[in-house]
Amino acid sequence: MVGKQTKIRLYLNAPLGVAQCVELNRDQANYLFSVMRLSIGDRLTVFNGIDGAWLAEVTNASKRTGQLTALSQTSPQTEPPDIWLLFAPIKKARTDFIVEKAAEMGARQILPVQTDFTNAERIRQDRLQAHAVEAAEQCGGVFVPKVSPLQKLGDALRNWPKDRQIMFCDESLVGARATLTAQANKTKWAILIGPEGGFSPAEQSRLRALDFVSPVSLGPRILRADTAVVAALTLWQLTLGDWQ
Ligand code: SAH
Repeated sequence: MVGKQTKIRLYLNAPLGVAQCVELNRDQANYLFSVMRLSIGDRLTVFNGIDGAWLAEVTNASKRTGQLTALSQTSPQTEPPDIWLLFAPIKKARTDFIVEKAAEMGARQILPVQTDFTNAERIRQDRLQAHAVEAAEQCGGVFVPKVSPLQKLGDALRNWPKDRQIMFCDESLVGARATLTAQANKTKWAILIGPEGGFSPAEQSRLRALDFVSPVSLGPRILRADTAVVAALTLWQLTLGDWQ
């Protein structure tokens, strides 16, 4: 019996290839069989962030476990442009939003940084990574950006790869024209967004003195940090990324 073809997209942390079987964990089995009511023979799309998207069939289903078998590749692996997002974690729900939107907007890597005015002392990296996975499942992507552990902004700048330019979203430039200028020989970029309290004077002068930093305005209004993330990614994708 041929089962139904569904629109479900599921991320799997396992290799994918023709006839490759993947055992499901409890959460995945619960989602597919109890929540989405799939049964043996039903089909869905799976991806692992490496091997593109695959059509897969349910070959075993029970309450706590199950198995999928990959049938054929439906799209090749693609990566978003080389843009990282550095942001200062804020309140929990807004930090979740930032990670979700960054994944949807095509950030290659998400790096939480602790700044002078950052309120958060720690982050739940696994939770944030799960949000990035969910966003990729929802938006039809095959790529999942990695969420790095929280690091100090000062450490990130000290160890910075000099071939990557930083688009420093500088609230003191509010009202200036929002322009982003391509840098000679640089295709790798990172966006830097501050916390609700903005950047400290010491951070501002340090950042402005670095030649791999480009201070940028995000228009005539001060945006909240979560809004600023989406606005900055839009400006970057439109000017230098894959919206061109
Ligand atoms: N409390 C600060 C604003 C912080 S907004 C103040 O009143 O000045 C949070 C972050 O969003 C900022 O650190 C900056 O990175 C970004 N941001 C918000 N609006 C911006 C704008 N108009 N131009 C550039 N960056 C902006």
